[in-house]
Amino acid sequence: MKVKCLIIGSGPAGYTAAIYAGRANLQPVLIEGPQLGGQLTTTTEVENFPGYPDGIDPFTMMDDFRRQAERFGTTFVSGVVTKVNFSVNPKKVIVEDEQEFEADSVIIATGASARYLGIESERTYKGRGVSACATCDGFFYRKKTVAVVGGGDTACEEANYLAGLCEKVYMIVRKPYLRASEIMQQRVLNNPKIEVLFEHNTLRLTGEGKVQGADLIFRKGEPDEALRHIAIDGFFLAIGHQPNTRIFADYLDLDAEGYIKVKGDSPCTNIPGVFAAGDCADPHYRQAIVAAAAGCKAAIEADKYLKGM
Ligand code: FAD
Ligand code: NAP
Repeated sequence: MKVKCLIIGSGPAGYTAAIYAGRANLQPVLIEGPQLGGQLTTTTEVENFPGYPDGIDPFTMMDDFRRQAERFGTTFVSGVVTKVNFSVNPKKVIVEDEQEFEADSVIIATGASARYLGIESERTYKGRGVSACATCDGFFYRKKTVAVVGGGDTACEEANYLAGLCEKVYMIVRKPYLRASEIMQQRVLNNPKIEVLFEHNTLRLTGEGKVQGADLIFRKGEPDEALRHIAIDGFFLAIGHQPNTRIFADYLDLDAEGYIKVKGDSPCTNIPGVFAAGDCADPHYRQAIVAAAAGCKAAIEADKYLKGM
């Protein structure tokens, strides 16, 4: 199938790109991917997206995005992009190893996935006390006790943010030191609401229907190994994110963590006609409104590219 503008991903970036590309008469085709509606559909409420003064459930919100994209002529294709060839023009994009698209321009909006520890109870309590986004979900834990896992800048930033809302914040750090920058470390260590549990790993989460505690192990395998239980209401993962960009690695410049490199604050990649928007190219902000704005920029650039401007 021949396409003027092919969009990969159905999160805020992909749908916004589709709205703009549709209105520019590019007749976009959007490949939905493994998570229809994107990452937001893994949470229960969105309170910080402008236009929804009373908050909104993310399924309704993403359905609004989708209907708006549909209104301007977007064609939706369910499936996952498994292969691309960006060394030819038109670019080739293959869905589920069989359906081939030839695209004059491509907008990549495949997002990023938070890393999880991989313990069983994380899945059990997902959305019921387990979160990977303090900015998004911290508000629900006002005056409560939470734990943040990780010792990098993100973990320190999230712990400080949560300390502004919560009664107490534990940081669960597997090493005897924090990996974060000096200034972030100092902020954490000087915050009386934060207790850093060095050399601790999480064994399991506990609770009746929601997170109420965590079983930790101190100095696993050492002579002074010990078990510890902490009572918590929320468990925040901050052990890094994994951008969904592996299939583009043969063609696009990626940074050390796998985020797509874009030129300045534009969505332009190293390949003309291929644009990147949202969390797949954003290691810093990772917010729906920022992703949506990036989708808008990508569609505007795709239109300019197709018109030879
Ligand atoms: P995503 O939303 O991640 O969408 C990526 C899309 O790409 C998905 O549709 C997926 O199916 C698709 N895809 C991936 N790989 C492929 C492939 N190979 N082929 C085809 N498609 C593919 N932000 C806020 O502003 N407010 C909040 O309250 C908020 N809460 C959050 C709560 C949680 C639990 C999480 C994890 C994040 C939260 N965020 C929040 C962050 C927000 O979800 C992201 O910043 C935003 O969704 C990024 O949008 P995106 O379109 O770039 O990517
Ligand atoms: P990061 O620097 O890679 O740190 C990840 C942290 O998670 C580390 O402490 C790591 O422990 C821990 N971790 C990883 N896997 C774990 C596991 N399975 N169990 C327990 N702990 C685990 O990631 P990040 O903090 O998200 O930062 C990513 C990049 O963004 C960095 O370059 C950072 O500087 C930058 N950033 C900057 C700012 C800022 O400047 N304000 C804010 C946020 C992020 P180990 O140390 O033991 O490996």
